[in-house]
This record gives sequence, structure tokens and C-alpha cells, in this order.
Amino acid sequence: MESWELIIVGAGAAGLAAGIYGARSGLKTLIIDEKMAGGTTADAPVVENYPGFPEIGGGELAEKMVLHCKKVDVNIHEIESVTSLDLTGEQKIVKTNRAAYEAEAVIFATGSHYREIGVKGEKQFRGRGVSYCGVCDGPFFKGKRVLVIGGGNSAATTTLYLSGIAAEVMVAHRRDAFRAEEALVQDIASKKNVQVFWNNEVREIKGEKLVNTVVLYDNKAEETKEIAVDAVFIQVGEAPNSQVAQAAGVQVDDEGYIKTDIFQRTNIAGVYAAGDVTNHPVKQIGTAVGQGITAALEAYGYIRRPYYRR
Ligand SMILES: Cc1cc2nc3c(=O)[nH]c(=O)nc-3n(C[C@H](O)[C@H](O)[C@H](O)COP(=O)(O)OP(=O)(O)OC[C@H]3O[C@@H](n4cnc5c(N)ncnc54)[C@H](O)[C@@H]3O)c2cc1C
Repeated sequence: MESWELIIVGAGAAGLAAGIYGARSGLKTLIIDEKMAGGTTADAPVVENYPGFPEIGGGELAEKMVLHCKKVDVNIHEIESVTSLDLTGEQKIVKTNRAAYEAEAVIFATGSHYREIGVKGEKQFRGRGVSYCGVCDGPFFKGKRVLVIGGGNSAATTTLYLSGIAAEVMVAHRRDAFRAEEALVQDIASKKNVQVFWNNEVREIKGEKLVNTVVLYDNKAEETKEIAVDAVFIQVGEAPNSQVAQAAGVQVDDEGYIKTDIFQRTNIAGVYAAGDVTNHPVKQIGTAVGQGITAALEAYGYIRRPYYRR
């Protein structure tokens, strides 16, 4: 079995940042990703909020991170999926669809995925008017008409965020009341440029190159209408990719996000988590990078013991 000092599961922003810090600390470091390295960063059409890069394509930013990792001799295995782990002993066992490895420390940086609503046009227009992240893509729709889908806290905060950017924000919610915090609901009611369509479900997202209309079905009036929009922000929740970690005994919160302390430690010694898979409240490239760095330096402290924290 191949031996490593540090194995990182996931080659997104968190995993790649961890890789750079692990290797530069002198740890024999392997990153494994079930897809090509780069993670969700590569899905962002344009990134305008990562310090140092006022405007950069997500693919280009991800490629720079991957090249940086390779430059400092991180080994990256792509298209290899971690299927199970045994984290009970001093040596952690990581099994993939190709091999088994042992490591002294493991970092989970497996990210999360946005829940989809599964309507016609959603996949086709993803990145071309269909977005799952208001903070990421909202500024592209300054002065435009946008539609938010959902009724929970993320839909409410996205609506408020967009109301400061877009000319008009519409919200389609399939029920007759929000499930969001009362303070957010009151804030939405006070916004003059927000209109809520209660009991409305999205049936189809339409457009040519970009989104231009959405078909809504009013489940109370039993009527269908088509409204003109420039963007659709789908906010029906996210789900962490934490199944393999959970199966290996890593503790998660009620929504499945891995619980960590400020040093990115999980409940198991020598096991860390970073980025969107954790219960950290902000899910951005910058925060994923910061958590990845912390996790790698903590793993270094745990393995080499110069400053191991109990
Ligand atoms: C369309 C879009 C636009 C965005 N725009 C911005 C933006 O402008 N600015 C910003 O700061 N943030 C933006 N974000 C959010 C940002 O991309 C994420 O917060 C960040 O990339 C999370 O990084 P991560 O490393 O935690 O996870 P990810 O980048 O999701 O990486 C996780 C990796 O783990 C791998 N993986 C999962 N399970 C396994 C397994 N079992 N075995 C092996 N590999 C596995 C996955 O293949 C993936 O590559 C955007 C997100 C989206 C979807």
C-alpha cells in the first residue's frame, strides 16, 4: 500500500490551498479528486471577488491553483474517487476505486453541490442566466430584472442582496409564506423593488443564448404565466459532499456539513475538513482557501509535532 503523510480528498480551492501548504511544509502530500482538479471554482464563468484578480475566468483561476500545486510537488490523482476510509488507527486508510493508501493525516475538502429544481432549461442556461449564488453572480445583473426561486433563509438573503443591485427582484415561492427568519421577511416587505409571487412553481426556464423568460405555475389559481427576466437565482438549498466522511465516523451537523473547530479539526484526531463541506457560514473561494491553509498547517503540527494542539 502506498504511504503518504497527508492525503487531501478533493482538489477544489480548499484542497489545492491545503496541498500547497502541506507540500511547502515538507509533507509528502497527495490530493485525490473524482473529477479533474479545480473543483467548483472552474464552474464560475467569471470571478470578480478573489483578491488580486479583479476579473478572472473561474477556469483560469482554478488552473493557476492546480499549476501552483504541481510546482511545489503536490501529487494530484484525478478521476479517482475516494469510496471509503478507515480513520480509527494512527495510520488512516483511504480507499478509492483504484487503490488503497495510508496516511498520517487526512483533510476532507469535498465541497458541496447546489440542489437543482429539475426543470427544463435549468441545465441548459446554467452560467448563462441560471445561477445558484447571488454573491457570486448578482453583480453581473446590475440594473436588470431577476427572479429568485425559494422561500427559506438563503432565498431571503439572496433576495435582499440582489435588491441592492438589480432594478427589480421577483421571488417565486411554491408556498404562501416564507420559511425564513422573521427579520429577513420584514426586510423583504420593506423593499420597493421586490415582488413576491406566492404559490408559484417554476415550470420552465427559456431563452436563446441567455435566459429571457420563465414559465410560472400558480398552484392555487391553477394558472400559468410567462414573465420576462434576465437571470434566475435558484435558492432551494445546498447539500455537502460528506457521505464518505460520515460513513467513516466524522461528525456532521443536522444538514450534513462537517463540524470543525477554528483549527479545522474534526472529532477524529488527525482528520480535518475545509471549504464548502464544512459548517462554516460563508462559502466562497477565499474562505475555502483560508480554511485549507489552516487545515494543512494543523495537519503538519499533528504529524511533525512542533506545535500539536490537543
Ligand atoms: C456557478 C458558481 C459560481 C461561483 N462564483 C464564485 C465567485 O465568483 N466567487 C467566489 O468566491 N465563490 C464563487 N462560488 C463559490 C465557490 O466556487 C466555492 O465556495 C468554492 O469553490 C468551494 O471550494 P471547495 O474546495 O470547498 O469545494 P469544491 O471546489 O466544490 O471542490 C470539491 C472537490 O471535491 C471533489 N470530491 C467530492 N467528493 C469526492 C470523493 N468522494 N472523492 C474524490 N473527490 C471528491 C469534487 O470533485 C471537487 O472537485 C461559485 C460557485 C458556483 C457554483
